[in-house]
Amino acid sequence: MNKKTVKDIDLKNKKVLVRCDFNVPMDEEKNITDNTRIVAALPTIKYLIEQNCRIILCSHLGRPKGEVNNKYSLEPVAKELSKLLGQEVLMAKDVIGEDAKKLSENLQPKQVMLLENVRFHREETDNDENFAKELASMAEVYVNDAFGTAHRAHASTAGVAKFLPAVSGFLIEKEINFLGDTLQNPQRPFVAILGGAKVSDKIGVIDSLLEKVDTLIIGGGMAYTFFKAQGYEVGNSICEIDKLDLAREAMQKAKDKGVKLVLPVDTKVGKEFKPDTESKVVKCTEIPADWEGFDIGTETIKLFAEEIKNAKTVIWNGPLGLFEFEQFAVGTNAIAQLLAQIDATTIIGGGDSAAAVEKAGLADKITHISTGGGASLEFLEGKKLPGIECLLDK
Ligand code: AMP
Repeated sequence: MNKKTVKDIDLKNKKVLVRCDFNVPMDEEKNITDNTRIVAALPTIKYLIEQNCRIILCSHLGRPKGEVNNKYSLEPVAKELSKLLGQEVLMAKDVIGEDAKKLSENLQPKQVMLLENVRFHREETDNDENFAKELASMAEVYVNDAFGTAHRAHASTAGVAKFLPAVSGFLIEKEINFLGDTLQNPQRPFVAILGGAKVSDKIGVIDSLLEKVDTLIIGGGMAYTFFKAQGYEVGNSICEIDKLDLAREAMQKAKDKGVKLVLPVDTKVGKEFKPDTESKVVKCTEIPADWEGFDIGTETIKLFAEEIKNAKTVIWNGPLGLFEFEQFAVGTNAIAQLLAQIDATTIIGGGDSAAAVEKAGLADKITHISTGGGASLEFLEGKKLPGIECLLDK
């Protein structure tokens, strides 16, 4: 990575504002149901404690839409972080208000505090300059370690870097090094697996990966747009009629570049969009008109496995079916199992595919699971991420 990290500047005794991604899932009683993102922030926080810093953490949680809403308070995160760090994390009652300012002024070396949800202010997502300035006024250095929001130009992810020396934390460094090195220097065969609902969300990634991979596997809801583009009936399956040309162009590009584009050959269709709906496996060229494709079929799993088995590098983003319903999670789970078994660099681009791997207890068998679905997709597309662009060059 060509950006400075916490190791590249003198942070001894400094007051540091750290943007983390503590956007963790919680149940109705506000118990954190997956603390992966908090755990991922620990190396940077621990390093800053070692450097005798006074540490002000900030993050967003959910979408409170610019209003104070206790449902989205970061307080449970402060508690969980206190446990993980083995020291109290002070929780501010506001973001740039009196309480936050007072706590930050009185902060002692090695002490850690957490500001309230930055999205309690609309100015955060508006990347408002005054709001960024207020955040910056509490510290001497800015550290961005929120990979999950690095693709957003918000006040706390990018704006604040205008007012403070800005460097990355270890998490962002790790994410960029993994994704960047893999794209630039993959061991071959290099296979990418793309799933998820829509072609329109992933067309940029398809386009960019076709420049780099040996094999591109497409599954999930996206595949039906590719079938339709070849003139097949897709029944009620999710399909973007206005993206047929994009699908055709992608197929042509794969041919021109010598990339093997692998589409499903069979699909598990259901009668209705509900968990216990009647289902059956049919050939992709024979989807009945009043049925809907919800998963890849058994032959497709075998076909995909043949490609994946020999790969030396695999990147996976997006589920291969409607995995929220158990009977349509078979394809996604099979791919997760396979990635855990092969002798290759395996990278999962966050979001639903990461959740599937974690649910199956296979996370430690994967080389790298990104903490940012959207950010890793934009990185794969070759886009510049504002939360990284704003940092000091090495
Ligand atoms: P994305 O955010 O684009 O990665 O899409 C993830 C969503 O796509 C998940 O909620 C999946 O349930 C959904 N999905 C994947 N395959 C299908 C399918 N065949 N039909 C409907 N939804 C699907």
